[in-house]
Amino acid sequence: MAVEAGCYNFGLAMARTTQEASSVPSEVLARYEPVIGLETHVQLKTATKIFCACSARFGDPPNRNTCPVCLGLPGALPVLNRRALELAVKAALALHCTVEERSRFARKNYFYPDLPKGYQISMYELPLATRGWLEIEHDGKTKRIGITRLHLEDDAAKGMHEGFPDSDRNTYIDFNRGGVPLIEIVSEPDIRSPEEAHAYLTALKQILLYTEVSDCNMEEGSLRCDANVSVRRHGEQNFGTKTEVKNLNSFRYLVHALEYEIERQVQTLESGGTISQETRLWNVAAGRTEPMRSKEYAHDYRYFPEPDLLPVHATQALLERLRAEMPEMPATRRARFVRDYEITPYDAGVLTATRELADYFEETVRAGAAAKSASNWIQTELLRRLNASGEEIVASRIRPQALDELIALVERGEVTAASAKAIFAKMFETGKPAGQIAAEDGHRQIQDAGEIERACRDVIEKNSDQAAKYRAGNEGVFKFLVGQVMRATRGQANPQAVNEVLRRLLAAR
Ligand code: ADP
Ligand code: ZN
Ligand code: MG
Repeated sequence: MAVEAGCYNFGLAMARTTQEASSVPSEVLARYEPVIGLETHVQLKTATKIFCACSARFGDPPNRNTCPVCLGLPGALPVLNRRALELAVKAALALHCTVEERSRFARKNYFYPDLPKGYQISMYELPLATRGWLEIEHDGKTKRIGITRLHLEDDAAKGMHEGFPDSDRNTYIDFNRGGVPLIEIVSEPDIRSPEEAHAYLTALKQILLYTEVSDCNMEEGSLRCDANVSVRRHGEQNFGTKTEVKNLNSFRYLVHALEYEIERQVQTLESGGTISQETRLWNVAAGRTEPMRSKEYAHDYRYFPEPDLLPVHATQALLERLRAEMPEMPATRRARFVRDYEITPYDAGVLTATRELADYFEETVRAGAAAKSASNWIQTELLRRLNASGEEIVASRIRPQALDELIALVERGEVTAASAKAIFAKMFETGKPAGQIAAEDGHRQIQDAGEIERACRDVIEKNSDQAAKYRAGNEGVFKFLVGQVMRATRGQANPQAVNEVLRRLLAAR
């Protein structure tokens, strides 16, 4: 997993939308309550597709990974990928869903060039799992968002509309993606703001990464999200008419599209109009949602049970085996970090943002470092440098053991805090041990009292004016003199010792 800003940044550091919809006065907006439900499609981390043995790898040359099954050739028969089922069950367990003993695939019929079979194999009246929940953190509060259902389905192929000499006339189709395994996760309409929607997707992504169900790479389309949204006056019991917004393939688009759509609906209602139930598309360039088609209903799809596949039996044995494979989940790990390492909930949140980061922290502590120091070093220097270089934490040249060695050098007073940062930077670049860098670059802190005293005398002599001012009662220049000694010793003198020696020397005489 790449270290993405979105992973570590739980806050919303993004600009408000700049679009024209912000013409609704905020006091009018405040009279309404948004109601939001998300439908998320997640690509499962399998080697092969869901119903055939073709590779599910992303980024291969177009149409390399195809066969009669995923091209929908007549007579070809699908066989369910066991791994896809297992990953879907894992996701369901992590989301506290009931995994149904018996579920069934269904054909969802529609015609589109990226769908060679003329139908998608999905699940309809008997989904794999139902009635779960996940916890979101927002505004310092925790809230449960219900999960309505989770089901398995195959992905469509990818239309390529750009980049060819004849792209003004033709669309090409890459069937590599056709038939890769997806789960669709449908939330209850429990979300009440764009920020809560952001928090929901953040929590969902974190759970899917922890359980290794998906790589959740949004740029590669492994995590895609459609938002259903309506508004109602505060206090109103019934939901308003909803629209569904498609094409939200980043956290930013999700928030911006929701902000836009909420304001558009409020504006429509305020000016006496009604919301038409429809599917809308987020237009990234224009920064607005646009009507795409009137809403389709289940009967439009002519759903019927898939005759070429057996019903799915999720046995107790399977559930038990998968339950045993589940890692400690983010919320549990966060709570344990606060308890065991006595760090703040905020710090625990940052350190458990990914499993890899949490493992790294725990290994550093296990190597002997104080939790507080390990937490500080990781959150400041390490994350900052990883973010800047785009490296993944597992590939960092500073291993937990090595970080502990650096922390120990500081704690034993062998290097100053300032030196330690320079050493860290070099460790990050070269992977050399802290002790070696400290020795090679002359970072060992000067402990020798004689050497510090010589430096102090020298500074007092060269700055006799300032020394005189200090003696005349000007405390302000003391800091300056300390600074001069630190500079003369290239930051290697122990600041505490310099303070003491300087005061003593200035007082004498
Ligand atoms: P549809 O019939 O359009 O498929 P569903 O009832 O299956 O609608 O719900 C689809 C998604 O829309 C779910 O995520 C659900 O939480 C959400 N949803 C349902 N009703 C509303 C509403 N009035 N406002 C916002 N979201 C809604
Ligand atoms: Zn295939
Ligand atoms: Mg529905």
